[in-house]
Amino acid sequence: MRAATLHTARWVLPMSRGPIDNGGVAVVNGRVAAVGAKRELGWQCKNSVDHGEGVIMPALVNCHCHLELSALRYARAQANSFTDWLGWVVTERAALSPSEVRDSAARALSGVLDAGTGLVADITNTGVTSSLLGESCLHAVLLHERFGLFSTGGEVGEIAREESFGSPANGVVCGLAAHAPYSTSASLMRALKREAKRAGRLFSIHLGESADEVRFLRDGGGPLRDFIAQRGVPVEKWRPPGVSPVEYAQMLGVLDEGSLVVHAVELSLSDMEILAASRASVCFCPRSNANLGLNKARLEKMLGMGIRAGLGTDSLASNHDLSIFGEMSFVAERFPGVAPKRIVEMATIGGAEVLGAAEAFGAIEPGKPARLIFVPAEEKWPTPFDAVVALHDTNGLKWIGPEED
Ligand SMILES: [Zn+2]
Repeated sequence: MRAATLHTARWVLPMSRGPIDNGGVAVVNGRVAAVGAKRELGWQCKNSVDHGEGVIMPALVNCHCHLELSALRYARAQANSFTDWLGWVVTERAALSPSEVRDSAARALSGVLDAGTGLVADITNTGVTSSLLGESCLHAVLLHERFGLFSTGGEVGEIAREESFGSPANGVVCGLAAHAPYSTSASLMRALKREAKRAGRLFSIHLGESADEVRFLRDGGGPLRDFIAQRGVPVEKWRPPGVSPVEYAQMLGVLDEGSLVVHAVELSLSDMEILAASRASVCFCPRSNANLGLNKARLEKMLGMGIRAGLGTDSLASNHDLSIFGEMSFVAERFPGVAPKRIVEMATIGGAEVLGAAEAFGAIEPGKPARLIFVPAEEKWPTPFDAVVALHDTNGLKWIGPEED
C-alpha cells in the first residue's frame, strides 16, 4: 500500500456498495488496491491527490452506439417518421467515402472518452471501427451486424471466423448482431444467435423500436413495407409472423441471458414478461427515441420487473452526442419515476453486467483495473447520485486512469 496513490474526493461512488463521504481510492500499478474513507486510507499511502468537491466513480458504459454512422447528423434528416429517417440514414450512408466514415468515427470515439465512457458496445457493418477501437484506450464489445430479409444465414460462420472471434485483442471483444426483425430473416437471426452463443459472445438486436416495426411484423404492411419494396426487395414474398417483435424473437429462440435487446419501446406487458423470463438484457436509448419522435420505453415497469438494463446513446444519426452523462440527465428529467441511483447503476455496473464485462468495469473494487473518472459536483446535492444525473456539462471531467497511478 505504501506504493499506492490515494485519490480522494468529497464522494466516492464504488457502485458495488454505497457512496462514501470524503472517500478515497488507492491505486497501485493501474489497479484498485483499496476503497474506503480518506481518513482510513490516508496514512497507508505515500502519495495522494485530492480532487476536491465532486465524485470519483467508475468510467461509464455505453451499451449501444454505431461509431461508423458518426458522419451523419440527425438534425439534417428532416424526417417525418421513423421509416423516413431510416431511408435518410441508408441514403446518406451510401454517399460517404471510407475516409469520411473512418475520420468521423475517430472524432466521435475521442468525444466518447472525453465524456467519461470507458466501455462501449459498438455496432459495425463494415469492420472499419475495429482498428480504431484497437488503437484507442476505449474498451469495446464490437458487434458485427448483419441484415437481409431473405438471407439463409449461411454467411454467419464465415463472419465469425473473419472477425477474430478467437481471442480478445487490445481491449476489443467481438460479438454478433442482427439488425432488426423487419430487416433480417428468421434464418439469419437464428444463425447469428447460434454462432454468438457457441463462441460465448454477446448477441444484440434492435427490437420493438417503432410502431412501424410492430405493424410490419403483424401483417407485413405499413411504411416499412413500402420502404423495403422501394429498395427492390421482393417484400411480397416475405411472410409476416403475425406476432409482436418480442414474441417473434422468443419464437426464434434468440432471447436468453446472452442477448441484448436494444430500444424495447413498443412492448406490451406480456412482451415484458417474456423478456424478464428469458433473462435477456435491455439497452434503453431514450434520447434517440425522443429525437426520432418515437414513444417512451417503460423504464420504471421493466426495471421493476428485474430486467437487467443499461443505457445507450445510439448513433449521431439520431442523437446530439454520444455522452452517457447526457443520457442520464435526460432520463432524470423525463422519467421521474426512476431513482437517480438506478439511473447511475444503468450507466455503470448495470451496463457492465449487460455487456458481460463486470469483472473489469462498472464498479470500484480492490483488484479491478482503476478505470475511474472524477466529475465536479456542487455542495447542494443531497447524494452523489443526484449530482451525477444532473451533470449536463462534462468540461470538468477528469480521467483517473491506470497511467496516473
Ligand atoms: Zn442502433
